[in-house]
Amino acid sequence: MNNAHPGLPEFDYVKPGSLAEASQFLAENAGRARPFLGGTDVFVRMRDGFWPSDYLVDVKHLDGTDELRFDPAFGLTIGAGVNMNRVITSPEVSEHYPLLVEACRTVASYQLRSRATIVGNICNASPAGDTIGACLVLGGILTVHGVDGFRQEPLERFFVGPGTTTLDAGDIVTSVVFPIPPPSNAGKYIKLGRNLVGDLAIVGVSVFGYPDSSQPSGYRFRIALASVAPIPLLVHEAEMILANQPIDEATIAKAAVAAMDACNPIDDVRGSARYRKLMVRNLTRLAVSQVYQKLTVQV
Ligand SMILES: Cc1cc2nc3c(=O)[nH]c(=O)nc-3n(C[C@H](O)[C@H](O)[C@H](O)COP(=O)(O)OP(=O)(O)OC[C@H]3O[C@@H](n4cnc5c(N)ncnc54)[C@H](O)[C@@H]3O)c2cc1C
Repeated sequence: MNNAHPGLPEFDYVKPGSLAEASQFLAENAGRARPFLGGTDVFVRMRDGFWPSDYLVDVKHLDGTDELRFDPAFGLTIGAGVNMNRVITSPEVSEHYPLLVEACRTVASYQLRSRATIVGNICNASPAGDTIGACLVLGGILTVHGVDGFRQEPLERFFVGPGTTTLDAGDIVTSVVFPIPPPSNAGKYIKLGRNLVGDLAIVGVSVFGYPDSSQPSGYRFRIALASVAPIPLLVHEAEMILANQPIDEATIAKAAVAAMDACNPIDDVRGSARYRKLMVRNLTRLAVSQVYQKLTVQV
């Protein structure tokens, strides 16, 4: 845009009364209407001229989207409209899913997190989204309402490209659901940014591990990377090394190299592709070592 003082273009604010109404409206106005929650991506992108929309459809008040619920038999449900500060201050999330809290805390500022949501972070589908890695390694599943009703979508198959997902016109994510985590687990998110607050990740590494006697090493690890590929990446090669070989410094170093080899970063203002790759190796080694240490101290 060559507008020296960009402002929001005109649009109509739409507040549907039900999910069915919202999906119908979005489907009928495909390409002209966009759902929003906190709006922290939507309004910035609209202001900058990237997402022209005639209609912005407010979906954060609709059925179930305000729900933040932990059920010991089922798991955790985070409604689409639940902002990150609510996630951070939930005692149940802190107790059972501390990795989610850790990831949310790295997003910008307290002020921004009072609007920004985890579901918005996921649906924005930026490879740099800070909470996406934690959601991936914790096995998050999206509940989606479309014109044909509800369906579930595992997060692992949700991302198609930068800003692109499997969602169709009329689809509204209503929540992200996490299974009960395995006992004695531990996690770590390491975000490398240009400063300590308020910047997108140059590299983000999420690691979640737990004892699993069915694996040769006795442990399972899940590892997700941010900002180093067109989509948020789960690095199965590295996970397999840690499942199959006795865990020591050499195995962790080998897994870290596998993570580096799996990523395909770009050069941009935040860092070169080469720097990103090397930092994936170093930070994966650090994060896995820290998680393994926590796991062995717990036993
Ligand atoms: C100053 C600033 C700093 C930031 N810092 C960070 C950071 O450190 N880390 C980081 O990861 N992000 C950062 N962001 C980006 C942004 O805040 C996050 O991506 C946030 O989580 C988006 O949530 P939201 O609720 O505001 O989403 P919204 O802006 O409301 O929506 C985001 C996207 O999801 C779509 N969408 C929204 N709701 C739904 C739904 N229910 N179903 C389907 N699609 C939907 C929208 O159409 C849009 O494409 C920053 C943004 C700003 C402005």
